[in-house]
Amino acid sequence: MSDIIQLLPDHVANQIAAGEVVQRPASVVKELLENAIDAGATEIKLLIKDAGKTLVQVIDNGKGMSTTDARLSFERHATSKIRTAEDLFNLSTKGFRGEALASIAAIAHVEVKTKQSDQELGTHIKIEGSTIQNQDVVSTPTGTSIAVKNLFFNIPARRNFLKSNSVELRHIKDEFYRVALTHPSIAFDFYNNDSEILNLKNSNLRQRIVAVFGKKINEKLVPIQEHTDIVSINGFVSKPEFAKKKRGEQFFFVNNRFIKNGYLHHAVLNAFNQLIPSGHHPSYFLYLDVPPNTIDINIHPTKTEIKFDNEQALYAILRSTIKHSLGQYNVAPVLDFNR
Ligand code: ADP
Ligand code: MG
Repeated sequence: MSDIIQLLPDHVANQIAAGEVVQRPASVVKELLENAIDAGATEIKLLIKDAGKTLVQVIDNGKGMSTTDARLSFERHATSKIRTAEDLFNLSTKGFRGEALASIAAIAHVEVKTKQSDQELGTHIKIEGSTIQNQDVVSTPTGTSIAVKNLFFNIPARRNFLKSNSVELRHIKDEFYRVALTHPSIAFDFYNNDSEILNLKNSNLRQRIVAVFGKKINEKLVPIQEHTDIVSINGFVSKPEFAKKKRGEQFFFVNNRFIKNGYLHHAVLNAFNQLIPSGHHPSYFLYLDVPPNTIDINIHPTKTEIKFDNEQALYAILRSTIKHSLGQYNVAPVLDFNR
């Protein structure tokens, strides 16, 4: 008889976890942007090269990390965001699993520069495949810059499975829009191969939607607002006459997080019932705030699916609120100053 079970070395465990957290360059974009937001940044710069295959870099003006924390941030399950299991039921940050940086560093070349406001000089760390290659002091502004190069350099099968640059760029833009729409008060600057794709100033929600999707969308938006004990709803739906054949811009945000939810999507469609031809889709930008202890966001590593305690009540409230707002918009007198 012989024992054959062994604990996997950290770098192997990290590489396995990376398979779930990092599907493509867009996943790196999402994780780095979310970390910048959790760090309290008010200005965030996203730089990518070759649709993220060569470089994804996020530079923020957030609170930065101490030297020890900067090293520790690449360990698995290393997080400053939760301390106890109870904290899981009261999350106010986007991150909490402490997996992203460890996963990314397991499958890419990563370079960090970070400085806290009370430090004279910052920390510079280079890490490749979970191994720290180099660490020194550096003169750098307060905040953090993380550059991720050569994604999947040590997993050729994953690298070969990446799609064309235009497809990967599409995924990156989608992630970027979701984050930018969640945080209109944060300024974002987005560059691909040194050319600026979007420059978003600090703004309100309506201005941010217009800045991302273009001026024409402004006249299409009907405001939605409701406040009950179980949910507060804010945001916009498109007027029925602007429903499109192709799936429009459809966004749910729950407690400041973009989520996908087929059931709530159906509630919106239901509210538009008979107002739009079948096969057409309304656009919507809906922000739901619910008590954090009534949702579970820990059901998937990318956290885009969540579980609600009160799903049926949410459905009913969402549907009736939108119906009501559409009704108000329809009966509102049309002011014609040219008459
Ligand atoms: P999580 O976000 O789930 O905590 P991550 O692996 O994404 O896990 O990050 C690990 C830790 O590194 C964070 O908890 C945070 O303390 C620190 N960190 C990561 N990115 C930044 C950043 N841009 N600014 C300041 N601290 C950061
Ligand atoms: Mg994180």
